[in-house]
Amino acid sequence: MDPIQETTPFISLQCSVFAHCLARGSTFLLYHSILMGLLRVDRDAYDVYRMFDGGTNLHQVLARHPQCGAYIQELVRKGFLVRTGIDELTDYRKAARRSDTPDLDIMYILSTDSCNFRCGYCFIENDMGDFYRFSEMNLDTLKKGVDFFQAHARKSETGPVVIFYGGEPLLNRRVVTEGVKYIRNSHPDTVINLITNGSIMSPETVGILADANVKVAVSLDGEKEAHDKARKTVAGKGTFDDAVHTYRMLQAAGVRMGISFTIGSHNVDRLRDHLAYLVDAFQPEGIGMNFLLETEGVRKDLMVDIEYATDKAIEGFAFLREKGIYEDRMMRKVKPFIEGKIHLKDCGAPGQQIVLAPDGDIGVCHGFLSSRRYFTYNIHRNPDPPLDEIFRDWYGRYPLQMDACADCIALGICGGGCPYQSHVKEGSLWALDKRMCMHNKKFVEWLLWDVGSESEHAVPR
Ligand code: SF4
Ligand code: SF4
Repeated sequence: MDPIQETTPFISLQCSVFAHCLARGSTFLLYHSILMGLLRVDRDAYDVYRMFDGGTNLHQVLARHPQCGAYIQELVRKGFLVRTGIDELTDYRKAARRSDTPDLDIMYILSTDSCNFRCGYCFIENDMGDFYRFSEMNLDTLKKGVDFFQAHARKSETGPVVIFYGGEPLLNRRVVTEGVKYIRNSHPDTVINLITNGSIMSPETVGILADANVKVAVSLDGEKEAHDKARKTVAGKGTFDDAVHTYRMLQAAGVRMGISFTIGSHNVDRLRDHLAYLVDAFQPEGIGMNFLLETEGVRKDLMVDIEYATDKAIEGFAFLREKGIYEDRMMRKVKPFIEGKIHLKDCGAPGQQIVLAPDGDIGVCHGFLSSRRYFTYNIHRNPDPPLDEIFRDWYGRYPLQMDACADCIALGICGGGCPYQSHVKEGSLWALDKRMCMHNKKFVEWLLWDVGSESEHAVPR
């Protein structure tokens, strides 16, 4: 008698609610959307699995398919089969709820909210109302904000991450350079990043960034013609040449360089060519691909169909992978998939990040800078605000807790897109970010076939 039959003869098992199947011809991929197990099976093995739909006695199945003992054990081990009657969704949701506590490890410092560019897709500058009062941070605000962040940041091997952001952060050069020195001296293990449009740089600033081991990402959207269509100065002039000049100055000084690449109608058709150009011309450590947010002020002619953009981005990702260049957007999903760890959130706002506005207001998402929604405290009036209060409206905003996502194949990889986009388009942080939802489903299917079509059959044929 088969060992599984011998030890568990009367167990009733059912197909997991998280089991999904993709089919191509006679090949079937079984995939568990939370545990991320993947099994490649043929039609016969798939039919055996489906015998457990709604709950079936294991003994009955083994009586008809005695050769399938090891296969069924594998299905149980990978969570595709569970005891009949258990409520998996509630159990996983409860377990995930334990992570709904502050887990701070990212801080955005908006040294200024002004920018000397008017990029057509910028959801911060283009959505500032007419009456918005721009301001610049002072060093005292930065120090208080950094000290608060460091006092609560999670201790990890990689260290907490501080990102200088804006507006264009270097319009407030003094606070960036003095702030970098302050952080490096007072909290040496911090990873410091600067995201810049590349328009303002001096040899002195380059030296300070290099000495403090700051990683810099310059926004470059591909070849000059495409870049200049979307990334313009306030006066409407193209910005490619300045960005390239800055990039090269920093790279020559040994600064670790990355590229922020935004996908829109200006570069999507030849996306892979643009990436090939950037890799060849600039040898970045990494490239981050960004999709446009659809907000009031974003130029409509730059928007692209998300399914088309996803196909192009996948092609671009495969190219970068071949070249050994790290691409963050896709890799932050691929890595947990390979490690079999759920990727709960794609955005740090539900518990992981804070944003320090130039005037000391503390929030969780820079998208809300203009309205100051969810910027509940100010570091000057309250130097140690309660984190639970800061994140209160954001806790649990991830697919596993959202009913619309429960039966989705991308549940454990998606991360839920951008809650700010959900708020803008659907009126609630908790609604689906429909564009990224489409993107994530498509990406997950690609990933599963990319990995699964090479894997061995679960049942030898
Ligand atoms: S809600 Fe969207 S814009 Fe805000 S931090 Fe998250 S991903 Fe970024
Ligand atoms: S947001 Fe969309 S893709 Fe992501 S888990 Fe929910 S339903 Fe799936």
